[in-house]
Amino acid sequence: METTAKETAAPVLLTRAEAAKRGLVDGETLTKMHLMPTAGPVAFTEAENGGRTLYYHPDRVREAPPEQWIKKPRPEVNGDLTPRRADALGFYTAERLKEMYYEPTGEPVAYLKTRSGDRLPLYDRSECKRLPLPCVKCGAPERYRGKLCRACFQKDLAERRAAGDERRAAFYGHDPRRVLYFDLEMTGVYRWDEVLSVSVIDGTGAVRFDTLVKPARIKRWNRTEKIHGITPDMVKNAPSLFDVGTDLVTLLDGAECLIAFGTATDFGQLCRLYPGKKAQSALHDKMIDCAAEFSHYVSEHEIELSHHSLSDAMETLGLSWSGAAHTADADAAACRLVFQTLFPHFYDRKEFA
Ligand SMILES: [Zn+2]
Repeated sequence: METTAKETAAPVLLTRAEAAKRGLVDGETLTKMHLMPTAGPVAFTEAENGGRTLYYHPDRVREAPPEQWIKKPRPEVNGDLTPRRADALGFYTAERLKEMYYEPTGEPVAYLKTRSGDRLPLYDRSECKRLPLPCVKCGAPERYRGKLCRACFQKDLAERRAAGDERRAAFYGHDPRRVLYFDLEMTGVYRWDEVLSVSVIDGTGAVRFDTLVKPARIKRWNRTEKIHGITPDMVKNAPSLFDVGTDLVTLLDGAECLIAFGTATDFGQLCRLYPGKKAQSALHDKMIDCAAEFSHYVSEHEIELSHHSLSDAMETLGLSWSGAAHTADADAAACRLVFQTLFPHFYDRKEFA
């Protein structure tokens, strides 16, 4: 099951209370905190006179450059400072500033009392010049992406891409009848949620298992019902997960690989059918997460894609759906298409190629 929600592009109108409840921050508060947004506003409030306040997502902010900080009047300092007091005021020695990638620009604002009796000049960090962060690989004073300079990033990308392409193009020689693609639809995304349907198809595209499942405890799942369309009424007479467990376990045990788009939640659910750490670990070793493989591919091929859902994978790879998205059988079939496109020789042996 995939439930990646697309973000809405246009900011929505909220009351101040609603914005606060969602943990959103307005522009003025960000400025006071020396932060700036890295993405557009997600919401706005409207005052009676029609004035708008824009709100931003707290995860999409970064530190603003010091020249944009609101200058507080510098506090009066009497005598030399202890390290703790200096830290609280945001005053640092030139050496410490260098470690933080700042450079003093003016006169010292105070002095630090050291144990040896020396007086070290202190500078107000908010008045210092921000130095460019260096590349963590070569030390060049530039960061392009992932803490690397452009040259190091491109070199790293080319190496990752070559290794990834080689791995994907390899001949794995798996028996297509024993490669199983599965999808579970659930009452929700948490560990305590329950399975509502199981679909398994093999590498030839044959449906090997396809059933609705009646949850044992949970009676309603309004939120996910809208996604997968499975209603309580539909599963009323369906078998329980344990009713189908023996057949499902026999099927999964015969598989060489179990592939799903996002395996973490599904693995947790299947573990309920596998008592004991040893059996669960054997199950885990056979699992391949198609979503993780797609993310590798995207990152190695520098495809600009902010969401990596199954629908995104289908679209990016130019594949088309055979059924409605978010139904277990269609999701398992789509997962198979995505995986086989990424690994074109998964069932082939080199000597026959
Ligand atoms: Zn570099």
